[in-house]
Amino acid sequence: MSYFISAFYHFTRLQNLEAIKADLEKTAEKLSIRGLLILGPEGINTTCSSSSEDDLHAFKVWVLQYFNASAITFKDSRSDRPPFRRYKVKIREEIVTTGLPGVMPPEGKNHHLSPEEWNRVLKEESDFVMIDTRNWYEYKIGTFKGALNPDIEKFTDFPAYIEKQGISKDKKMLIFCTGGIRCEKGILELQNQGYSDVYQLEGGILNYLEKFPNDQFGGECFVFDHRVAVDQNLAPSAQYVLCPHCGQPGDTKVICKRCDYEDKICENCSRLPFKQATCSKNCAHQWELNPGKKGQRQLLPFELEHQVRTGAASPHASIPVTRTKATRINEQGQAVTVNSCSN
Ligand SMILES: [Zn+2]
Ligand SMILES: [Zn+2]
Repeated sequence: MSYFISAFYHFTRLQNLEAIKADLEKTAEKLSIRGLLILGPEGINTTCSSSSEDDLHAFKVWVLQYFNASAITFKDSRSDRPPFRRYKVKIREEIVTTGLPGVMPPEGKNHHLSPEEWNRVLKEESDFVMIDTRNWYEYKIGTFKGALNPDIEKFTDFPAYIEKQGISKDKKMLIFCTGGIRCEKGILELQNQGYSDVYQLEGGILNYLEKFPNDQFGGECFVFDHRVAVDQNLAPSAQYVLCPHCGQPGDTKVICKRCDYEDKICENCSRLPFKQATCSKNCAHQWELNPGKKGQRQLLPFELEHQVRTGAASPHASIPVTRTKATRINEQGQAVTVNSCSN
């Protein structure tokens, strides 16, 4: 089975967020859309999916009409496995966390370069500074050739990073991110700091890879769903998993010293004595309590869901999470964490 995925955002002033949330949820349910949508007074930011290409298309058409948007750049990809388990709308002050709420990108274009224009600059010019505005672990698994890594934990550290670099204000600056939204605000920060020859990659890396796989971008692109990352052809990563210890992308193979389960963790955690060669927080914790004692691996919620779906576990199965909490399958077939003494 194929899942059709689209990532997009739209800046527009919104009020009555609760009512908009209800409309989004109603439409998503009707069209069997799954995904995560961030809704705020400044617009929407989402990655969503459907097993029907037509339904996803219908959802995009509805979004364009509902938000009265003249154009939205939809970044499309596919996966064999569902990238989301349900549909969720979260209301936040900012639709992309930059620490600049209320800073609204202007309508229309603000120094956007299409993937074609971006490629031309990278290949034909040399006097520019290119900055990856994403987080350090995203940079690490893939980026544009020659891009600077601000090595930031979160985007709110970006303004200070730029100030510290002391790059001449007349320098040509190129910035990019995953899907383009961070740069919409990032470029305003650069313009505020006095840079005028600044450009952002329209639609981000996802839009670029759609047109130019295996060109100026090397490695894989981190995404914010179960796929972890996408490769040059926008296919789900076969290399990375989310590290069970810290949630960052990892590809270091381990055989768990407690439960013998083969898994991948991230490079950082593989160097920490406490987490080294364990498959999960649970195994690391148990091994610390009882060094040398083997035990069973704790199933993850989605693995329990999968087992119930395939008949390998009963619909009433539960897995202990702590002494008082357990993960159970609810009536919708979703794994939820509940107090283990209640039903
Ligand atoms: Zn880790
Ligand atoms: Zn283990």
